[in-house]
Amino acid sequence: MTPIGSHCPYCALQCAMQLVPDPADPSRVVVAARDFPTNKGGLCRKGWTAAEPLQSPDRLRTPLLRDAKGGPLRPASWDEALDRIAQAIAAAQAKAGPDAVGVFGGGGLTNEKAYLLGRFARVGLRTRHIDYNGRFCMASAAAAGNRALGLDRGLPFPLEDLAEADAILIIGSNPAETMPPIMQYFDAQTARGGKLIVADPRRTATAEAATLFLQPAPGTDAALANGLLHIAIRDRLIDEAYIAERTEGFDAVRRLAASWWPDRTERITGVPAAKLTEAAHILGASPRAFILTGRGPEQQSHGVDNVLAFINLALALGKPGRHGSGWGTFTGQGNGQGGREHGQKSDQLPGYRSLANASDRAHVAGVWGVDPDSLPPPGPPASELLARCGGAVSVLLVFGCNLLVSAPAVGQLRRRLEGLDLLVVADPFLSETAAIADVVLPAAQWAEEEGTMTNLEGRILLRQRMVAPLEGVRTDAEIVTALAERLGRGEGFSAEPRVIFEELRRASAGGLADYAGVTWERIVAEDGVFWPCPDAAHPGTPRTMLERFNTTSGRARFHRVEHRETAEAPDGDYKMILTTGRVMAQYQSGTQTRRVASLNEAAPEAFCEIHADMARTLGVGPGDMVRLTSRRGTAVVRARLCRSIRLDTVFVPFHWGGSACANLLTSTYTDPVSGIPEFKVCAVHVARSEVAQSAAAPAAGTVPDSSRIARFRSGKG
Ligand code: SF4
Repeated sequence: MTPIGSHCPYCALQCAMQLVPDPADPSRVVVAARDFPTNKGGLCRKGWTAAEPLQSPDRLRTPLLRDAKGGPLRPASWDEALDRIAQAIAAAQAKAGPDAVGVFGGGGLTNEKAYLLGRFARVGLRTRHIDYNGRFCMASAAAAGNRALGLDRGLPFPLEDLAEADAILIIGSNPAETMPPIMQYFDAQTARGGKLIVADPRRTATAEAATLFLQPAPGTDAALANGLLHIAIRDRLIDEAYIAERTEGFDAVRRLAASWWPDRTERITGVPAAKLTEAAHILGASPRAFILTGRGPEQQSHGVDNVLAFINLALALGKPGRHGSGWGTFTGQGNGQGGREHGQKSDQLPGYRSLANASDRAHVAGVWGVDPDSLPPPGPPASELLARCGGAVSVLLVFGCNLLVSAPAVGQLRRRLEGLDLLVVADPFLSETAAIADVVLPAAQWAEEEGTMTNLEGRILLRQRMVAPLEGVRTDAEIVTALAERLGRGEGFSAEPRVIFEELRRASAGGLADYAGVTWERIVAEDGVFWPCPDAAHPGTPRTMLERFNTTSGRARFHRVEHRETAEAPDGDYKMILTTGRVMAQYQSGTQTRRVASLNEAAPEAFCEIHADMARTLGVGPGDMVRLTSRRGTAVVRARLCRSIRLDTVFVPFHWGGSACANLLTSTYTDPVSGIPEFKVCAVHVARSEVAQSAAAPAAGTVPDSSRIARFRSGKG
């Protein structure tokens, strides 16, 4: 087998890799390093083991059907399974109209699949009910970027710029665990003498690498940003010329910031005034500086406002739209960027066109060969779509997403999904969600098919097919195309990724995310192409908005952002704040990574990180099982005692299902603009569990010292 270059199946860094025969067993493949401008040959432990799920004995090889609710799943042929789905769709739509059917996609799907799902929903099903799990991830940053700068591209600059920065502020992100190879850029930055500031309720592995660490209370991000802006204005650190030339709306923000004097900011955030002043001065004195937000500020019921508040700070300091400076967000899922550009979002058409805009509808309808009036209107965001399951939505098709681990308030959601007439899940494995489905379709995995992905920099990458698909499985595109044909609307649908990409190029032409000039050959020859790239002669756009912002006036917009309480605050019954997140050795809902032995060894179970002093107050010892209870449900996990988290906060990673599922606890409160759920803050009661302490050896009764967490440094993992 000739080694073929591709990219990791997991996070948005999309590290380059290749698969080669396993020297110990040539019938199997293993991951090998591949040099590339982003990861420079490095991979994290998830990447190094990414071949294992391809060869897992747990892979599904045949469709499964449930003949009656509550009955068992049984093997079935593809024809029987697809016929059952088509019949259920026809029956539901005949009874209640096109919107009775919903489609739910994922941020790990290739651009071609995301595009195809959008087209299938609007043309094949004519439903407005389509959204995806990127709504749980990137929606607040996307909305804030659009409002302030007129553009949603995670990092509107290449990673290499980070290494050259004089200062970087990271708020609510822990890339040292979630995408370790990216740390080489921050290591290079600090080695050059640059300052790295990290703000997080937990002293994370990333915080350990920082020059300055700020530890705000969860849910106080806008207050933190306003307080830093106050000091920047007071101490004349802002860039008045830039504000006058390139922005609008500063006066209202200046007036608001005047009330965020350091003592008040300290009282609300818990960050000492002296540290606030130090941070503002580091940023203000640095010619090249970046402000980078993560899921911490974004996954809140005021997530858009939180991000806007940090963009205000960046604009006041004169950073966005300048080479070597700016604001950005760390995209999370593998194709979290491309997946939100091409139409699987409820309000969106390919190329970041809008389903609510008549000329956008006309352009895309022309590519699809349909009447613009036949396209449905924008639908509701993911949480609302899921809330309609079992009611207005009676058939739901899920691709590339394990909702019963990764969605908020999964106890309620499970009841809704069980109330559907038909739940269909396409997945390589019998995930927690697939296990309750009426039809399960065995899907091909990343290396078994080809397609494009767009990484966190907006760099379009080619994921090449490296192994033959397992016998019995089909690609998501083949499934969608077969369903469109059965519904009598298959004309113009293709399951060939290259054909889909060519259509995507035409559909995106002229849009903000313009892929018209991108070819697969260019992607390979140029180590990826940055969008927008409107024609074959265009070099692509590594750095955007250098001349003007994408707003009507060409100026970036300040937004007046007040600090507001999170939707749920601690009270007498639920005294602690729960925040959720990821660990290095697992990925998202764990559907793939929980099937890798070495990753399970490193991260075998969920845990509750709790301050040692608080644990002692609660009578919880290292390794004890603790019961966390919120207004939605209860989870039981092992305690890990530490001194790196705030006294009022506990942290539980969300990679596991069952009784250890962190999302049994989270709430369905969402941001009114972005629809993102408030994963980062909910009120919980914490107590030592009455259940028998697990016989399994504790993974760790205490949190490993961050300095002991294996961090990427050498470029070779
Ligand atoms: Fe994959 Fe790890 Fe790279 Fe993310 S950081 S793309 S999970 S190897």
